[in-house]
Amino acid sequence: MKRFLIYAGLGVLILGVGLYTYMKVSAAASAQADGFHLKCTAAECGWYFTIPREQVRTYPRDPDGQGFRCEKCGKYSAQIASRCEQCGEWYAVTQGGGREGGCPKCAGQKTGE
Ligand SMILES: [Zn+2]
Ligand SMILES: [Zn+2]
Repeated sequence: MKRFLIYAGLGVLILGVGLYTYMKVSAAASAQADGFHLKCTAAECGWYFTIPREQVRTYPRDPDGQGFRCEKCGKYSAQIASRCEQCGEWYAVTQGGGREGGCPKCAGQKTGE
């Protein structure tokens, strides 16, 4: 009975830590529970792809940590992508936080201005 309690406690602990980690990652990259959405910023490429969450840590990045390696062109110019709420298009979110420029497709097309 005592052993059972230890295992039960351990299970709860693992669940708790897992949930905490999951929530932290979710906060950093919203709506990316299934993986990271990436968009290549190379002008001639623009490839959109996803990598599973468990591969994010080991996925090849450039030495400065600025970008992920693009699946298609092989350059380290793929960035975390965000989905435009207006047109549904994926676009690269620039480093340094926020949505600088926002969706390239909808930029300058905002209504009410
Ligand atoms: Zn590319
Ligand atoms: Zn858009």
